[in-house]
Amino acid sequence: MAESIQLTAPNNVTYTQPTGLFINNEFVPAQSGETLTTVNPFDESIIAAVASAGTDDVDLAVAAAREAFQAPEWRSMGASERGLLLCRLADLCERDQEILATIDAWDNGKPYDSALNEDVAEVISVFRYYGGWADKIQGRTIETSDAKLAYTRHEPVGVCGQIIPWNYPAMMAAWKLGPALACGNTVVLKAAEQTPLSILYLATLVKEAGFPKGVVNVLNGSGTVAGAAIAGHLGVDKIAFTGSTPTGKAIMKAAANNLKAITLETGGKSPLLVFEDANLDQAVKWSHVGIMSNMGQICTATSRIYVQDSIYDTFVEKFKQYTIENSKVGSQFDPAVNHGPQVSKTQRDRILQYVESAKSEGAELVLGGGVPQAGDKGYFIEPTIFKDTNREMKAVREEVFGPFVVIQAFNSQEDAIKKANDTEFGLGAAVFTENITRGHKVAAAIEAGMVWINSSQDSHFAIPFGGYKQSGIGRELGEYALSAYTQVKAVHVNLGSWL
Ligand code: ADP
Repeated sequence: MAESIQLTAPNNVTYTQPTGLFINNEFVPAQSGETLTTVNPFDESIIAAVASAGTDDVDLAVAAAREAFQAPEWRSMGASERGLLLCRLADLCERDQEILATIDAWDNGKPYDSALNEDVAEVISVFRYYGGWADKIQGRTIETSDAKLAYTRHEPVGVCGQIIPWNYPAMMAAWKLGPALACGNTVVLKAAEQTPLSILYLATLVKEAGFPKGVVNVLNGSGTVAGAAIAGHLGVDKIAFTGSTPTGKAIMKAAANNLKAITLETGGKSPLLVFEDANLDQAVKWSHVGIMSNMGQICTATSRIYVQDSIYDTFVEKFKQYTIENSKVGSQFDPAVNHGPQVSKTQRDRILQYVESAKSEGAELVLGGGVPQAGDKGYFIEPTIFKDTNREMKAVREEVFGPFVVIQAFNSQEDAIKKANDTEFGLGAAVFTENITRGHKVAAAIEAGMVWINSSQDSHFAIPFGGYKQSGIGRELGEYALSAYTQVKAVHVNLGSWL
């Protein structure tokens, strides 16, 4: 198999697509010769076949990362120079932003405009942001007595296995690579099997930026083979994972074999509370953004809406109208479209099952619930709204990961908080109120890693991202992510003399 091919995307962008595994700064075939194919979810056409890693390829990538971690080219590189490499990578992503956005739109199904102005814009910002951090990672001196000098060093953890999902391919890679590299680690990153293409392209930019060989290695492959091999590898010191909660649990178990450090960003069922004193138009707008953006394929999607009973009917009607007027379903490359297909048939069919279960459990369908006619083929789902739901329903308890929202009423602030927290997840939450005291009190009472007051989903690379309860362990983004990629060494210096 050739390790790269020329591709022309539906928007006529032509580029060279690597198709191998990226190990030691070279693209190589899988040792077994196995490949996996990736499809355009809009029309189900095959885009490319890429190498699919087996456990022997994982061994090679981990060995490359270990050697790079110990080699002076990386280990002794000045922190500022490491930062410059990340900034150079940001510049290259900016230069090739249209290619990266084209690939993610094509491979994932997300509208090109979002891929360019949200995903790739964030990729560039994240690499610049962590480029800036590289030479600001500092230990402390600790006062004890005149006889002792004690200080801490914040050292890299070592070889980091990073396993990412398909909903924001390039962006998830940047969230993981940025802090890991700023802190001086080396990486074996596995792309999701549905969306490997932009990560492989990113690997070409890693090499062009000048990272020494073996510092970043990129594998594609199935979760149960390549992913599981990374999670359980004795040569890997840390695992960072984003994906579903069941997979997060499997990874945590596998990572226990050598007590790997772990960060997990897993599922969510985030509540959005609308109080009667809210600005209703704003609440409606953000409720739409909170669940329909990226076709609902966001771990923090505000997928459970709770509305105070006095404004319940008005809110439901306005939300329905807003969704009808603002959901333009179709090809990800049509500039008028803001709602593309789901990533895969599996995901589309899974969402349809939740539609059936919500109906059979007595929820009232307000909008959607079916497969729209956006073309002859493609994995489309209509924006779907259910009202009059309750805590016993499967669609209220489980993460659906689609443009699918359940609404129910609450009658007091206490009731709202109780309902919001009635979940095994704790990733995000949103509160709509014009009462400043209520906003902060409810934010404090919510069991979630992120609370938006009067917005939803407007995360930022400088602000920590992560979950409470079964939504994860540790934080990504911001300064907080640095602690996930460093370990602290205490150095004791005896300044006294033996008594
Ligand atoms: P989804 O069900 O939406 O595909 P997953 O959580 O299964 O989400 O997948 C997220 C990432 O985890 C992907 O890169 C996938 O290949 C990987 N993965 C899946 N299963 C495993 C596993 N058992 N061990 C390690 N990685 C896995």
